Amino acid sequence: MIYNTYGSTGIEVSAIGFGGMQFENQDDIDVCASLVKAAYDMDINYFDTAPGYGKSEELFGAALKEMNKTRAQKPFYVSTKTMKAEPRQIRKELETSLKRLNLDYIDFYHVWCVMSLEAYKDRKAKGALAEFERLKAEGLVKHICVSTHITGSEIGEMLADYPFEGVLLGYSAMNFAYREAGLAAAAKLNCGVVVMNPLGGGIIPQHPDRFAFVKTRKTETVVEGALRFLINDRRITSALVGASNQQQLAEAIAAVEGYQPIRPETVQKIRASLKDAFNELCTGCRYCDNCPENIAVPKMMDAYNYYVLRGKGADMIDRLRDHWNISAKNDNVARCTECGQCETACTQKLPICQRLKFVHAEAERLGAG
Ligand code: SF4
Ligand code: SF4
Repeated sequence: MIYNTYGSTGIEVSAIGFGGMQFENQDDIDVCASLVKAAYDMDINYFDTAPGYGKSEELFGAALKEMNKTRAQKPFYVSTKTMKAEPRQIRKELETSLKRLNLDYIDFYHVWCVMSLEAYKDRKAKGALAEFERLKAEGLVKHICVSTHITGSEIGEMLADYPFEGVLLGYSAMNFAYREAGLAAAAKLNCGVVVMNPLGGGIIPQHPDRFAFVKTRKTETVVEGALRFLINDRRITSALVGASNQQQLAEAIAAVEGYQPIRPETVQKIRASLKDAFNELCTGCRYCDNCPENIAVPKMMDAYNYYVLRGKGADMIDRLRDHWNISAKNDNVARCTECGQCETACTQKLPICQRLKFVHAEAERLGAG
């Protein structure tokens, strides 16, 4: 395993971390807990969860109960989060997280899911950061961090406003340009950087030909190439791998074990291949999945990815029909009132309404039923 120092904390964390958002079957507590424990046994020491990832904190808690027995000899670090803004609610949520996780303190506690600079300022004004500081003084939180989906330059502004010790952001070969400035700002401030969604929500492995440029060796898979591209970036402390099962975990570990430094000219070549169009991709995070008209926005946007990546409307319509069993010509799109709720929630700031109309128009044009 490769370890990197987390910002100015002096803590050495594994170059890949375990992201607890994608357990295969959250109802099977034993299988999920053994996956977390397996990651620990394979020398991953950074574990990320959140109260909103279904039962994730409870599942981690079952594993951490065991892992606590060896923590003194083999340290691990836990990250969780709160979206609350009011001090009393933050404290209450932290206490619940600690109980679920079987922990006495949280190593990296995040102001969670900052979607705009205004939202950040609002939480700060309500006393969120002051409460984080009190929790830190009481030893319940070790490090104050932020998790965000804003643009790179806005991340820079936020980090300049408050001395967060770490930032969690979505970054991959897909949305490279969108967050690049944030990464640069964090590095300059010696802030820890953990990246989520390093495989673009599965888009990268689903399109190995389109992303083949990330591979630096003939024998490596596109997953290995994409992870090694991030491991090679010295500004990134850890990349969270949301392994659903043992096989995915093993693949991520293999990517680290087989890592060799990538030559700067090769890095430049990969960067040059990163297209602006990749910023336009939906990462499947499902933050927009709350349409009051019951439109399956994430599924529609997943299909639109096929248009972005392949340039053919027919591929998009096929994806909708064959993969999601959705007919693009039904009332699905027509129900959209353009209320804007999904666009506000979108972590990639995608023009969803416009895309829905395009899907519908393509379905009409192609006569897809
Ligand atoms: S803009 Fe349309 S798709 Fe988005 S949440 Fe509103 S009704 Fe649903
Ligand atoms: S449309 Fe935006 S919010 Fe919705 S799943 Fe895609 S990236 Fe996430």
